[in-house]
Amino acid sequence: MEKTPMRRTKIITTLGPATDSREVIGRMVSAGVDIFRLNMTHAKEEWVREVVPMIRDASAERERSVAVLVDLQGPSIRTGDLDQPLELHEGGTVELVTGNAVSEDKASIFVNYGGLVDDLDVGDLVLVDNGVIQLRVTSKPDGERLKCEVLTPGVIGSRRHINLPGVRVRLPGLTEADMSCASLAAEVGVDFVALSFVREAVHIDQLRELLGSEGSRAQVVAKIEDQEAMRNLDEIIVASDAVMVARGDLGIEVHVEELPLVQRRIVRNCIKLGKRVIVATHMLESMIENPLPTRAEVSDVANAVYEQADAVMLSGETSVGAHPVKCVEILNSIAARNELGGAGFASHADIKSHKQKTVKAAVGLADSIPGCVIVVFTKRGLMADYVANLRPESALVYAFTPDEQVIRYLCLSRGVTAFLSPMSGSPEAIVEGALDELKGRGLVDSGDSVVVLSDVLGEEFAQDSIHLKRIE
Ligand code: PEP
Repeated sequence: MEKTPMRRTKIITTLGPATDSREVIGRMVSAGVDIFRLNMTHAKEEWVREVVPMIRDASAERERSVAVLVDLQGPSIRTGDLDQPLELHEGGTVELVTGNAVSEDKASIFVNYGGLVDDLDVGDLVLVDNGVIQLRVTSKPDGERLKCEVLTPGVIGSRRHINLPGVRVRLPGLTEADMSCASLAAEVGVDFVALSFVREAVHIDQLRELLGSEGSRAQVVAKIEDQEAMRNLDEIIVASDAVMVARGDLGIEVHVEELPLVQRRIVRNCIKLGKRVIVATHMLESMIENPLPTRAEVSDVANAVYEQADAVMLSGETSVGAHPVKCVEILNSIAARNELGGAGFASHADIKSHKQKTVKAAVGLADSIPGCVIVVFTKRGLMADYVANLRPESALVYAFTPDEQVIRYLCLSRGVTAFLSPMSGSPEAIVEGALDELKGRGLVDSGDSVVVLSDVLGEEFAQDSIHLKRIE
């Protein structure tokens, strides 16, 4: 049995060609991955069907809970196929075409969004391939063509992603492809489904409804990637179970110098509204090639820890990078070290309900006793999430639940490690069973203090209770 690491910030890694073997997945679980992400922009159906059981096996073999997150591509605007890459020179002209009028004899590129010409005005920016190529609209010759000046030159290949900063695009929340990937996610039983380019809360409602109709209880993650999502931020947070600061696209859609402020606002609002939050993309980007991170990357990860994000996420670093396991080890140590760095954690959570007030008292009590841990009994994970949301300063949190899927949801909750408890029998036996499990795993020792928090132990009625115990 492996000892669970004492890190609070959770680690999400993206699987890909560099990591999709049993052996590497096992090593990544041992190194501390909490959630594996399958990116449906690149993943194929057969691969998803193969890799999910590999993850479940690796988790069971190591007696360490890990969850699976399927990330849906969402509505994405792309260029069409090109026979050969097209070179664009600074100051040159290129036409973006939404119909059949793509011309062979001039720089002319198909774009898969029919509303392009209507939605853009002369002077608007069009960013291609992660913002590497910048174009500005100079005229609209007809209803299917936009004439653009090349501001930043580059070479355009086939199916490149397009960003339209600040433009309110009229695309559906979920594409046909997303719907079929969501059905697949439900069928293989994943724990989280993330949706890219969420712009309104209703997109999250649609995904949740679809998953429910397929018999899935997967939690729903909104990826915040553009200015419209930022305008509707709080209603999206309220509709979601968790939110991802998807800095790849967000850093193109907002002015890049504002990205740190935008990240901070999203993380703060999620904690305030009681939802999980993930900081994603470019955290250890240089490690795609190099065996060590840059100083700036270490500081970026530490910043997410100081902001009290629930999780940090790796993409290319683990899907195609040369050092995937090392990346996880490094994230693990940066997070664990900086959580203890005296950064002055203080939760911004709104405390409204009676239950939240009880949880606040339990967290305050545990934090006032050196080495004290919190043991929380939770059927649906709600009580454990209230604890996580208050961001205990020193106390580690151990959650016990009878529901295996709740254990996996809690893989995303900062500072919480969850275990199975039958939660049947007398309240005393349930508590003793949990403490024995923690002792057996070396997570508590004789003489340690424990705050036991529960709302489900009363036989006749649910009753919130806080007990301070000393381990025998
Ligand atoms: C991002 O844009 O930061 C992101 C996480 O999304 P994707 O990897 O799907 O582009």
